[in-house]
Amino acid sequence: MPPEKNTLTKVFDDLEAVEEQLSKRKNINLFLDFDGTIAPIAPTPDKVKIPPEIISILEKLSEYEHVFTAIITGRSIENVSEVVNLKNIHYAGNHGLEISGVKRTEIVPNAAQIVRSIKKISDDLNKVLLTVPGAWVENKSLTASVHYREVPVSHVPELNRLVGEITAHYIDRGLIKLTRGKKVIEIRPNIKWHKGKAVTWMLKNIAKKRATNIYIGDDETDEDVFKILNSAITIKVTRDSKMKTDARYFVNNPTEVRYFLQWLLERVTSLK
Ligand SMILES: [Mg+2]
Repeated sequence: MPPEKNTLTKVFDDLEAVEEQLSKRKNINLFLDFDGTIAPIAPTPDKVKIPPEIISILEKLSEYEHVFTAIITGRSIENVSEVVNLKNIHYAGNHGLEISGVKRTEIVPNAAQIVRSIKKISDDLNKVLLTVPGAWVENKSLTASVHYREVPVSHVPELNRLVGEITAHYIDRGLIKLTRGKKVIEIRPNIKWHKGKAVTWMLKNIAKKRATNIYIGDDETDEDVFKILNSAITIKVTRDSKMKTDARYFVNNPTEVRYFLQWLLERVTSLK
């Protein structure tokens, strides 16, 4: 057999190198995805329970002057900041389309028009998707998510068809676009903006300078960040060490993310 190509390294097997990289810079910018990264995936977003140990670790990390901590998520800022409820943490919601403390129109120039369109699409989808058991629509103001984790496989083509039908007019007008996540279709403004651009923006404007950057995420949308942070400590949350990703490392699940963050906290504390 030919040698395995691009097999990911588990971060715990390379902590010495991580440690060495961290020792080169005083500051740390820690960027974290939320669902599937620090919180385990739940059937619906409102059922997610963020482990209290993670909250405690993040709270301690975010209190250090030389650590910048941000959560970058598909959820709205309103939702994620309520769930996490830590004040020293920065939030980027709606896949980076909104950043805490920043005017919406700075990122989405036609925000008002988008919010109106998303509301209409969500209302219309809520009506037509009654025929698809388990499907539900989450209106997040600048974006909407059509969740189908609980939809029987046999009904997924019908769901795709209905989402296509309701959104076609808005896609044709260049207002919105569709992207896919894990058992979710995202309806988003048609602008060139993603988590990677949001991270770039934060690095330039609010994060620490002369810092080691760390990014941990499990989603396809996190790949946009892994690509731009190619010298950072990037960690993909996945069970598949051979998966195609631009991350350097992997861990298996949110519990291992917690182990890594615990390790990071101990290291930060010992260097204080
Ligand atoms: Mg995720």
